[in-house]
Amino acid sequence: MDLNTVEVIDVPTRRADVWPLGPDDAVLAGGTWLFSEPQVHLRRLVDITALGWPPITLDDSGIELAATCTIQQVSTLSAELPTLRGDWTAAPLLHQCCTALLASFKVWRTATVGGNICLSFPAGAMISLAAALDGIVTIWRADGSEYQLPITDFVTGSATNVLATGDVLRAVHLPAEALRATTAFRKLAPSPLGRSGIVVIGRLDDPADGGRCAVSITAATVRPYVFEFPGVPDHAALRAAHATIPDDAWTVDAHGDPDWRRGVSLVLAGQICAELR
Ligand SMILES: Cc1cc2nc3c(=O)[nH]c(=O)nc-3n(C[C@H](O)[C@H](O)[C@H](O)COP(=O)(O)OP(=O)(O)OC[C@H]3O[C@@H](n4cnc5c(N)ncnc54)[C@H](O)[C@@H]3O)c2cc1C
Repeated sequence: MDLNTVEVIDVPTRRADVWPLGPDDAVLAGGTWLFSEPQVHLRRLVDITALGWPPITLDDSGIELAATCTIQQVSTLSAELPTLRGDWTAAPLLHQCCTALLASFKVWRTATVGGNICLSFPAGAMISLAAALDGIVTIWRADGSEYQLPITDFVTGSATNVLATGDVLRAVHLPAEALRATTAFRKLAPSPLGRSGIVVIGRLDDPADGGRCAVSITAATVRPYVFEFPGVPDHAALRAAHATIPDDAWTVDAHGDPDWRRGVSLVLAGQICAELR
């Protein structure tokens, strides 16, 4: 839709030109959400897609996804990884998480990793991916500094996060240790083409990386919950961890009743552990 309060669209090509960014300004990435509903408080958009960030950077430390990397590029990478890095057995998870954002081909081609994470919706599919793989986000600040923190600390609630006015998400890093793991994925949505109601992902690290097991719950909860165990947990350990999720952390929206989310996420976590065992 037209954003008819917007008077200016700036397209910086250098980091220094991204700012100033005030409360009437918005970072524009893919625009799939920004242009999907009225934004009457906005006067200016700052399009970050001309900053020249390589969408994907691979090295021995892992994968860096630029904030401007699209969902489609993440999905394509998933298919290419077995050739590029045969030891990164978590490769299928990248595509699986893209399918947790069920949208038209236009959204797939345009929506970005950063836009998805910054919206911080419970059903944020790139949040599910980053949470499952120990993702670390890098945030640029207006004063030229930057800082990093785990995705699990970045998202603070339903559509809330730590970003301050003027902050820009630059990238998310997925470490090689997590990429070398075996993963298992479950997603439930009330309708086949609907937004995720529950996403549960299990990750069993390679014995050489410590053999830890991480079980993450997203979409069902307003922010990501990741539980770590020394190995694949038994049902009692899993149930005890799941019980620590506060009552008010279960998502309340049209995509699933909170009680359904609470009960079924534990069932799916049990299935995942059986698959990883
Ligand atoms: C049909 C359809 C289906 C969708 N399904 C889902 C779904 O299943 N799950 C879900 O979570 N979302 C969904 N969305 C919402 C949204 O489109 C996606 O989350 C998408 O990934 C947003 O990315 P974008 O690049 O288009 O963001 P934009 O629309 O460009 O921006 C989204 C928000 O993030 C801010 N932003 C963007 N990039 C940055 C950055 N680097 N730093 C700081 N702030 C930034 C913008 O200012 C804006 O507030 C859907 C949207 C549509 C239209």
